[in-house]
Amino acid sequence: MTWVEFAFPACPACSRSWAVSRHRDCPAKGRGAGDEGGLDVDPDQSRVRCTGCRRTWGVWETRFHCACGRRFEAHEVEGAVREIIRVAALLARVLAQQAQDLAEIRRAGEASFRTWTSRFTVAVARTLGAMAGRLVGSLLRALY
Ligand SMILES: [Zn+2]
Ligand SMILES: [Zn+2]
Repeated sequence: MTWVEFAFPACPACSRSWAVSRHRDCPAKGRGAGDEGGLDVDPDQSRVRCTGCRRTWGVWETRFHCACGRRFEAHEVEGAVREIIRVAALLARVLAQQAQDLAEIRRAGEASFRTWTSRFTVAVARTLGAMAGRLVGSLLRALY
């Protein structure tokens, strides 16, 4: 099971999107550092998890609250949500294949790991698009 940051799909009203979705009115909010309530998605299970309160729910039950005031549900932007899940699944697979390499590079030292990470991020962004490039960074931080 791999959790990847759940990108905020483009808002139907203002067309803006972000790298991360937030849990609106997260019960963990205000309890201390690191409780922002960012959302992760598990592409294999189609589950969403809040990093603040640790609740999980189905991707299609997710409600999005845009900064412009528009509220919308996952099924209203089904194409965008499916694309987010598709990219997240690809990333999880690519990273699983690279796990062995990564372990060796990490043993070799922090500097070579950084070099590898930035090269890998650029390569992924070129192939899969900018959203995937942003996601790789957080996925790597989560794994290592
Ligand atoms: Zn909006
Ligand atoms: Zn929460």
